[in-house]
Order: sequence, then structure tokens, then C-alpha cells
Amino acid sequence: MIHIKTPEEIEEYKQAGSLSKAALRLAGSLVRPGISTREIDQAVEGFIRLHGGIPAFKGYGGFPGTVCASINEEIVHGIPSPVRFLNEGDIITFDTGATVNGWVGDNAWTFYVGEVSTEVKGLCEVTRDCLKAGIAQAVPGNHLGDIGYAVQHLAESHGYGVVREYVGHGVGRSMHEDPNVPNYGKRGRGVKLQEGMIIAIEPMITLGTYKNHVLGNGWTVVTNDGLQSAHYENTIAITKDGPVILTQDDEGPWCVMQGGEK
Ligand code: MG
Repeated sequence: MIHIKTPEEIEEYKQAGSLSKAALRLAGSLVRPGISTREIDQAVEGFIRLHGGIPAFKGYGGFPGTVCASINEEIVHGIPSPVRFLNEGDIITFDTGATVNGWVGDNAWTFYVGEVSTEVKGLCEVTRDCLKAGIAQAVPGNHLGDIGYAVQHLAESHGYGVVREYVGHGVGRSMHEDPNVPNYGKRGRGVKLQEGMIIAIEPMITLGTYKNHVLGNGWTVVTNDGLQSAHYENTIAITKDGPVILTQDDEGPWCVMQGGEK
């Protein structure tokens, strides 16, 4: 069932969106060679709680972290660890969510650890552009397939893979609501988008194959070929005035790419 939100509810949601973005920004600011993912996780948890939020992922389905910290070939659901250290040239995706007044924020960003290869940078930039292309389609009267098509078309035109098994989703008082928001699709197909829907759009795009599997820890999803995967996510409201990004703080909806580009 799709929960349609009133304009007042969408306004209420913005606090959760803002804190989730600030938490993501904090995680990104701590990225450096030698730091453990657990250290970043603890800092983000403290930050969310200090600002009156509840870490939305911690305990969700038994997930042990406040952030998902997915390095290189890890697509999603990397578990923060005190013995997993970042290395120069890695990419790391943080997925962070904060619950505020019962509303659940959700957003993700792939950060560079120091200098990364041109090839991997290209993957990240295109994935970020896929998110923008998907958001642009999130208007009343369009269909879910328009979002999926926009993401898939851009990614595949660059020769990248589009992960099928993990998708965006409706969000609100629960982290995962209907509908699913796939990163692939056909124009004009699927659920019709209407004013008052809040959805998380989150392309997961791979340098090589999009085929993947879950590691023995039961959580972490990795590419079968071991090549890198990038992941960017914003939560948006569909309004008559167009898509409104709800996961934004005072600095806006985007984190900073290497070189200062947003
Ligand atoms: Mg999500």
C-alpha cells in the first residue's frame, strides 16, 4: 500500500531528511586512509543522537551499525568494523538514516579515499548523474518506469552495470514502504507517480557485472567480479511543483565530489 503524505507531513519529514544528510556529510568528512569504518560509524551514531535523532539502520533487521559502510566491490550493507581500514584509492559508500519525530530519513553517497583512478571516478560521476536523471523524472503523472529507464539508460550508455536485486523504495514512518523504485525499467510502465509520494531513489551502478552475491555475514552484497560499485541516494517528495529533495541540510542536498564538484 502506498502512503500518500499531506504537504504538512512532507514538511515534518524534512527534519529527518536534514539530519540524515548532515550525518552523511559527517561520515564523508572523516574519510581518510587508515581510519576504520567502525570509528566513523561511532562518530555518526553520536552525532545523530546528539541532534535528537535515532539511528534508523541500527537494529533494522538486526543490522549492527548506524551506517552501512560499503568499500569498493561492496554494493550495499557493508558492516562497520574496527578492523576494516580505508586505503588510499578506495571508494566507500555510506548509507545513513536518522529517525526524527517518527519520520525516517535515508540517503547515501560514495566518497573517494584520497586519489582514486580515473576509471572509478568516472563510475562515481555517472552514478551521481544517474541519481539526478532519476530525480528529474519524479513528477506527478510519470511512472516508476520513467525513473528506472532514465537511470538504466544513462548507466548502460557508459557500459556500466545496473544492479537489479536492490532498489529504491517508498519511505515515511517506515524505512521501506511501497512502492519499490527499480533502477531499470520501461518508459510509461509501472505505478503512476502522484503528488504526496515520498520515495528514495538510489542507483547502484557497477564498473563490471551487475551480478552479485551476499557474503557469509548475511548482509554485505558484493559484485561477482570484484569490481567497484557506486551508490548515491536521495529521498524526494513528488509535488505539483516538481521533485523536492527532502534529504538536504543547510548546505543543500549534495555532498562534495573530489575537486569540489557537487
Ligand atoms: Mg534506501
